[in-house]
Amino acid sequence: MKRTAPALALLVPVALAAAQTPTTTPDLPPDPVRDSVLSSMDLGADPCQDFYRYACGRWLDATPLPADQARWTRSFSTITEHNREIVKALLEDAAARPGEPGSERQKIGDLYGACMDEAAIEKAGLAPLEPLLAVAGSARDAATLMRAAGELGRADIDVLLGYGAIADFKDPGTALFFMSQGGLGLPDRDYYVSEDPKKKELLAEYERHVARLLGLAGQDAESAGADARRVVAFETELARASRPRAEMRDRDKLYHKIDREGLEKLAPSLPWAAFFEALGAPGIRSINVAVPEFYQALDRLVGASPPETLRAYLRWHVVNQSADFLPERFAVADFEFFGRALSGQAEIQPRWKRCVAAVNGLLGEAVGKLYVEREFAGDSKKVAVEMIEDVERAFEANLAGLAWMDDATRTRAVEKARKVRNKIGYPDAWRDYSAVVVRRDDYFGGAASAARFETARQLAKVGKPVDRGEWLMVPQAVNAYYLSTNNEIVFPAGILQPPFFDEQFPAAMNYGGVGAVMGHELTHGFDDQGRKSDGDGVLREWWEPEVTARFESAARCVEEQYAKLEVEPGVKVDGKLTLGENIADLGGLEQAYDAYKSWEARHGAPAPRVPGLTNDQLLFVSFAQVWCTQTTPEFLRRQVTTDSHSPGQFRAIGAPRNSAAFRRAFSCAPGDRMVAEPTCAVW
Ligand SMILES: [Zn+2]
Repeated sequence: MKRTAPALALLVPVALAAAQTPTTTPDLPPDPVRDSVLSSMDLGADPCQDFYRYACGRWLDATPLPADQARWTRSFSTITEHNREIVKALLEDAAARPGEPGSERQKIGDLYGACMDEAAIEKAGLAPLEPLLAVAGSARDAATLMRAAGELGRADIDVLLGYGAIADFKDPGTALFFMSQGGLGLPDRDYYVSEDPKKKELLAEYERHVARLLGLAGQDAESAGADARRVVAFETELARASRPRAEMRDRDKLYHKIDREGLEKLAPSLPWAAFFEALGAPGIRSINVAVPEFYQALDRLVGASPPETLRAYLRWHVVNQSADFLPERFAVADFEFFGRALSGQAEIQPRWKRCVAAVNGLLGEAVGKLYVEREFAGDSKKVAVEMIEDVERAFEANLAGLAWMDDATRTRAVEKARKVRNKIGYPDAWRDYSAVVVRRDDYFGGAASAARFETARQLAKVGKPVDRGEWLMVPQAVNAYYLSTNNEIVFPAGILQPPFFDEQFPAAMNYGGVGAVMGHELTHGFDDQGRKSDGDGVLREWWEPEVTARFESAARCVEEQYAKLEVEPGVKVDGKLTLGENIADLGGLEQAYDAYKSWEARHGAPAPRVPGLTNDQLLFVSFAQVWCTQTTPEFLRRQVTTDSHSPGQFRAIGAPRNSAAFRRAFSCAPGDRMVAEPTCAVW
């Protein structure tokens, strides 16, 4: 220990100074849980001034951003990489012993094996792409374009528009065909229309990237360059016709249910019958056109575009969306733009990581089945259920004290909260992949078969009752979600791991970790969008108008507070885009804390496990440590443009800054940086 340490210890509060001793005192028995918390913290930082530094300081100092990542978090990334190793072992084993031909084991093993067989992929070259390029080349006018778009869509190459089967917002028991804006190669419309010089630079680089990939696909430099200009001009028009991302959250402005005749009136020069027939769904009648004005613009744009533009656009998307399944030079070129230029990632991931991700993406539940057999202990489900029930009770109890609520709306909110369904771990019924065909010597073919299966599976839902047992994430995902049309919160097995959760953790850590995630997902049911649906998932007005007005004013506090946050000078968090997530973070922490207190009331308060931290303090440290994050500046710029979540360093402190329990736990006072002014409270 440094000579100056005792003197410094006098300058910091007693509790914090005491906490410095255990990491250097050999007479305490080793405790990996305690040490993992303490070794990430910077106890020299003042929790009331810089809680992020306090909770994550030494982690930030000691954790470099891995070269093959653009962002690295102490929680999500660590578990994701750990899971990737587990899945790799499962896939290598399946590849070595594929078992019965046609079995799921054979399919995931051979898909992984085929992905790792670079020589075979190299040898196949562009041949597997030729049929799709021929489809792209068939476009001459609106009729042939729409037929080509349908055929490509069937192969999971999305062009011109976005679509899919989603529960009808107003009749959530039935799946409806949704048509939305789409057709862009860049991740957001802003990249095409923004005046920001960095985005303009990226757009110019994107054009060079399009030319490079078209060149790899066989065009000479001159024609590839000319086509790239056509592609960017065409996509820029699609971008102009697209709503800003923040507006795409507004659910009641995305509901325009019409029939085929209505669609033909909306975009009369586009032959929709040809599109639906080529897509393999000629019978679709009822449609929700989420963004009608996009379709009017698409109609005009197609009419005004020469055939060579239409063909260049389709050709580009065929190559772009297939790059991962082609020889390595395509994947490398793809990385150079989307990884390095757009996200600041230094190195492409090693091939095995990309192959694990591909199999997870294409045959995710077949992998998930093996994953949960190996990794998901039944006991953790029991503990998780107890925690969710605590969180739900905390939410309900909080409702009673909300000043902006009235009794009528409160009663209906309680009804909705009680109707929330929980899914934990993995689905009851697994997806049936029997239609997928995978061969060890044909990576492109196996991936294409899985992609076609998925498209057909989605389209088959249209007009039918919604399968409430379906999961929108695989069990190995390190994530969670709320789905408003099902009014359900879902926690895959992947997130029920340290540092979110462990049966050996002190309860305060679990509640600050996955408990806050549970509260976050539950609060989504009541955020600025989730609140618009009732307990049965029906989009309808169930709030008293004056309560809505008071809710909106409480939400505006959150919007304005986060809109001030900057990731670099002049580049701010979008308060509107992130509003739902930020409301969920604030509510989630509130409920996690209250849920922990009721756990304490039932079980008694345990002796503090981490010396120097009270149980309450540990809960907040555990919450913040989920969000210890390293990122590239490019990734942060991309994130504030495209992600509805605030960057990690803001999520670590955003909710605590508004929490009265946090202020009490650390004795923070108004004027401290960790006390927001004004403090916001929604749920
Ligand atoms: Zn969320």
